[in-house]
Amino acid sequence: MTDDDFKKSTANLKKAVPLMMKHHVAATPANYALWYTYVDNVIPQLNRELDNVIGNYGVCPPASGAQLYNNHIASRAETDMHDLRANIEILVNEVASSVSDTLTDTSQFSKMIDKSFESLERVEDESMSLEEVMKVIRQLVVESREIRHSTRFLNSQLETATNEIQQLKSQLAEVQQDALFDSLTSLYNRRAFDGDLNTLCRSEQKMCLILADIDHFKSFNDTYGHLFGDTVIKAIARRIQLSCRDGIHAYRFGGEEFALIVPNKSLRIARQFAESLRRAIEKLSIKDRRTSEQIGNITISLGVAELQPGESANSLIDRADKLLYEAKELGRNRVMPL
Ligand code: GH3
Ligand code: MG
Ligand code: MG
Repeated sequence: MTDDDFKKSTANLKKAVPLMMKHHVAATPANYALWYTYVDNVIPQLNRELDNVIGNYGVCPPASGAQLYNNHIASRAETDMHDLRANIEILVNEVASSVSDTLTDTSQFSKMIDKSFESLERVEDESMSLEEVMKVIRQLVVESREIRHSTRFLNSQLETATNEIQQLKSQLAEVQQDALFDSLTSLYNRRAFDGDLNTLCRSEQKMCLILADIDHFKSFNDTYGHLFGDTVIKAIARRIQLSCRDGIHAYRFGGEEFALIVPNKSLRIARQFAESLRRAIEKLSIKDRRTSEQIGNITISLGVAELQPGESANSLIDRADKLLYEAKELGRNRVMPL
């Protein structure tokens, strides 16, 4: 690192750290990398997207930060899954080529031995001098040392590679576990939801929470089977994702339950949004591939609550959940409060 590089990094860190504090960003290596890159201003797209998040939320919800990190930074760094896989492949290839090197050495060695034996046979036939015999033997000793060296090298390489592969594997598992997304619906998962909601509640941002639950889904599963049930969950998730605008984030909250965080909007506006979502789902018609039947009449019920000053994430969820329950009691396919 040159002096200039060092000065620049220090200056960037001095800018990044206060921004991270201001936007309630946890001090993790990934977040440092994200905010360092942001103030470094080298990826304009990243800066635009992060500015958008801050514009909508006032803080940086952890899932948004993690997604930006994955999309713009990890994809260039070693922590990326793709890179991890590639690294494992390189290691395996290295080991394989060193195995074949050793094999080549070994076969050269056995050729050498054969030749030496031929030479030794000539000792009697052609009465080789002692000098010449010694020369053949010296050659054999050199060759056998080399082969031993090369085997030892292979062993130590194998050991290093095994350790490295082990390490990469556990990193891979960590990255996978860290994943932000639900595998069935590709929405943000529950873990992302918990992180985001806690951050937003702690920083007392203006926001509303919508909880949505599919109506009579149990009997739907019973009628059409669990697999088609999954298709329906996916279709509804896609519809929800499509209607997300103004920085609204959608999460799979549980089995057939979804959560939406509506940043920076009043209860009235969030309620309107919930209502438009309810209508959009009502209009969905999903094809059962096995019977080619179009299945309609899928509905959801929704509860909407606005974060109160000083309120905890649990209390907000609780209030939205109670409203959702009221919507169910009143006959389903509706938004509460009225
Ligand atoms: P309600 O209108 O009161 O919500 O009725 P419901 O039957 O939807 O409510 P309940 O919570 O009793 O049942 C939810 C059902 O959703 C139970 C479970 O079989 C189903 N379910 C949960 N997760 C999944 C999933 O990932 N795939 C499928 N196919 N079904 C699921
Ligand atoms: Mg449910
Ligand atoms: Mg349900």
